[in-house]
Amino acid sequence: MEFKQSGKLAGVCYEIRGPVIEHANALEEAGHSVLRLNTGNPALFGFEAPQALLDDITRNLSRAHGYSDSRGILPARQAVVDHYRARGFDDVGVEDVFLGNGVSELVTMAVQALVDDGDEVLIPAPDFPLWTAVTRLAGGTAVHYTCDESANWWPDLDDIAAKITDRTKAIVVINPNNPTGAVYPRELLEGILDLARRHHLVVFADEIYDQILYDGLVHHHLAPLAPDVLCLTFSGLSKAYRVAGFRAGWLVVTGPRRHAKDYLEGLTMLAGMRLCPNVPAQYAIPAALGGERSIQGLVLDGGRLAEQRDRAWAALNAIPGVSCVKPQGALYAFPRLDPEVYPIRDDERFVLDLLLQEKIHVVQGTGFNWPRPDHFRVLTLPHADDLEVAISRIGRFLAGYRQE
Ligand code: PLP
Repeated sequence: MEFKQSGKLAGVCYEIRGPVIEHANALEEAGHSVLRLNTGNPALFGFEAPQALLDDITRNLSRAHGYSDSRGILPARQAVVDHYRARGFDDVGVEDVFLGNGVSELVTMAVQALVDDGDEVLIPAPDFPLWTAVTRLAGGTAVHYTCDESANWWPDLDDIAAKITDRTKAIVVINPNNPTGAVYPRELLEGILDLARRHHLVVFADEIYDQILYDGLVHHHLAPLAPDVLCLTFSGLSKAYRVAGFRAGWLVVTGPRRHAKDYLEGLTMLAGMRLCPNVPAQYAIPAALGGERSIQGLVLDGGRLAEQRDRAWAALNAIPGVSCVKPQGALYAFPRLDPEVYPIRDDERFVLDLLLQEKIHVVQGTGFNWPRPDHFRVLTLPHADDLEVAISRIGRFLAGYRQE
C-alpha cells in the first residue's frame, strides 16, 4: 500500500527550499562546508536580533504561555496601527490587523479565504514563489505579469491590463521585490491601483522589505495611495528586524471594508482555525515598531547591507556573460546568464551542478516562476569579502560549465 500526496499539490512547489536542499544537507553530513545562499535568513550571516526585542520577549515570557486572541495580542496590534497611521494609513484600527506566524501564514490565509476554484490571481514574474504556490493550493490560477528587466525590473501596466479577465480576483504587488530588488515609483503604483479600482481587484501588498532600501530611496505604501481600494498590506519582523525564526508578521486591511464583510469573516474564521500566532514573539512587535531603527544603519551608504549589495552587484557584472540590474532594496540579486554564452536548458540542474562543484547553494530563476532557465538568485547577506569570494567561485564554475 503506497501513500500518495493529494492531487491538490499538483503544480504546487517551493524551490527556495526545494529538492536541491537534500543534496546540500548530504554534502554537509559528508563534512563539506556549504555556503547557503538560498534563504533570506539574516541570522545565518551574523546579523543579531535587536536587544530591545529580546528584552521584551524575555520580560513577557511568563505571561505568554496561553493562547492569545486569534488576531493576536492587543498591544502588538495597537503598535501595528500606530506604525501605519504615522505612514498615511488614516482609517485603521486594531480590528483591521491580523498577526501571524510570519507573513507566510497570513499569505496562505488571505488567499485561501478569497480564491475559488478557477479564480485568477495576478502575480509578478519573477515572484516570491509562496504567492503562486498558495494560489494553486487554493484551487486558483496564478497568472503571471512580467517584470521588465530592461526597465529596472518594473512591471508593465499594459501587460497587467491585458491579463485581467472576469475571473481575476486579486493582484499581488511585491515592493521592494524579492527576487529582483526592484523598488517601484509612485506613478507605477498608482497605475496598478487604477487597474485594481476599475476591475474590482483586491490588492495584496507584500511590503516585508519596506525598510530595506538603498541609495536613499523612498518607499511608497500602496494602501494610502488608494483608500477606495480593498488592500491587504503584509509585513513582519523577519527581515528588517532580523528575527525570521520568531515567525512574527502582520497584515492590515484598508479600504472599503463594508464591501468585504463576507471575505473578512472568512479570514477571521481562518485566523481562529489556526488558534493564534506564537504568543512570545508577538511581544517583540511593540518594541520593534516603537522605535527600533537599527536597520537604517545597515542600509545607509557605507552600511553593511549597502556595501554588500554594491560589491555583489559589481562582482556579478564582472563575470563574462552575466548581467545584473542593481538591486534598489531587499536582500537579493537576480543576475541573468546570457543564453548565447551559457546555453542552460535546465536551471535546477545548473544550480545542483554549482552546489556539487563549488558547495554554493543558490536558487534557480524558474523557482521564482521566471519562464526561462537564464537567471538565478543570490543573497546579498554574507559579508562583502565572503560574497566576492563566492561570486568569483560562481564565475570560475561558469567558465567551465557546459550542460550535458
Ligand atoms: N514575502 C516576501 C517577499 C518574502 O521574501 C518572504 C520571505 O522571504 C516572506 C514574505 C515571508 O516572510 P515571513 O514568513 O518570514 O514573515
